[in-house]
Amino acid sequence: MPILVMKFGGTSVATLDRIRRAAKRVGREVANGYDVIVIVSAMSGKTNELVGWVEETSHLFDAREYDAVVSSGEQVTAGLMALTLQEMDVPARSWQGWQVPLLTTSAHSAARIVDIPTENIAAKFGEGMRVAVVAGFQGISPEGRITTLGRGGSDTTAVAFAAAFGAERCDIYTDVDGVYTTDPRVSTKARKLDRIAFEEMLELASLGAKVLQTRSVELAMRYKVRLRVLSSFEDNDEHAGTLVCDEEDIVESNVVAGVAFSRDEAKMTLISVADRPGIAAAIFGPLSEAGVNVDMIVQNISEEGRTDMTFSCPTDQVKRAQVAMTAAKDSGEINYHELVADTDVAKVSVVGIGMRSHAGVAAKMFEALSREGINIKVITTSEIKISVLIDRKYLELAVQTLHDAFELERAS
Ligand code: ASP
Ligand code: MG
Repeated sequence: MPILVMKFGGTSVATLDRIRRAAKRVGREVANGYDVIVIVSAMSGKTNELVGWVEETSHLFDAREYDAVVSSGEQVTAGLMALTLQEMDVPARSWQGWQVPLLTTSAHSAARIVDIPTENIAAKFGEGMRVAVVAGFQGISPEGRITTLGRGGSDTTAVAFAAAFGAERCDIYTDVDGVYTTDPRVSTKARKLDRIAFEEMLELASLGAKVLQTRSVELAMRYKVRLRVLSSFEDNDEHAGTLVCDEEDIVESNVVAGVAFSRDEAKMTLISVADRPGIAAAIFGPLSEAGVNVDMIVQNISEEGRTDMTFSCPTDQVKRAQVAMTAAKDSGEINYHELVADTDVAKVSVVGIGMRSHAGVAAKMFEALSREGINIKVITTSEIKISVLIDRKYLELAVQTLHDAFELERAS
């Protein structure tokens, strides 16, 4: 029988009543002739509570025990979902990560999936089981310890199962009804997209659109898993939600698919560093060792052998960056005049695979911003994305302006 993966996020399994509603959807797909693999998150808020308990108990906690504790939320919802399905006369059972087994690396709290042997679950499907309810977010290390995949990791569990079992599709049920051209809280004209390409979704996810864990999109792209994001609170027909798919499956699309943003960025400038071979390595090596996620980098023109180096990072990493740069200066690895931190900036990006074949997107973006008097501080581009840093107070205006300029409220 064809296999469907259905993933239910925390809000979709937050109460027994919602679990019943989710189970009914699963029951309908079973009636449609699918064997279903259900991946569940913990009830919403549960994982945060568990993380809090760990932190309160132990300051420098043992990551193996952290995983033992925080993985437990999914154990509860998996069992409850299986019970609910059984009450509906749907043959179902629950599977913990280690029972599958979902094999991961030993990187506790951020483990990566190594393999999902399908035999155990396939054998049960062969015996008449119709639904395997699998606890999301968790696996087992080579040492036999429980691991977790990082926050939001059950999206990745779901896509990995879809790839391993060759599922027809992976449906991600969540509390929004799809992927939007931008955050509807910022622009009332935001429009739900029927389809979006993997690469566009990957950019949007890593730019902070919280619908899907970034790694799940990477995995879906690699294994060409058709992903559908849809609401568990609405009645959906087969056109509901947003399909994240290969660009070949998108017939017509706008040049720009969406406007993404991240509010809490900082622009850091090292003033007057020596412009010599190895200087970038001497700056960005220590920053990466200090765990600073550097995003944009600009090296300015140099004069008399000195230059200014600008980079951006999340605001909450400014302190770390300052400590790392001061240490590098004190040890003589680098020499600069001053480190200036501008913590009132935000990043706005336009994303779309159409940019590969259409010129003029950057010009249009800059013109639109300049008409509103918004100053651009840093620009970076990739094949399918243009990002700018601007003053944070203009963020909403910039997003709305770009949404209008690229006419994103209209489907092409
Ligand atoms: N429950 C985990 C979390 O809140 C995993 C997930 O829901 O995806 O991060
Ligand atoms: Mg999630």
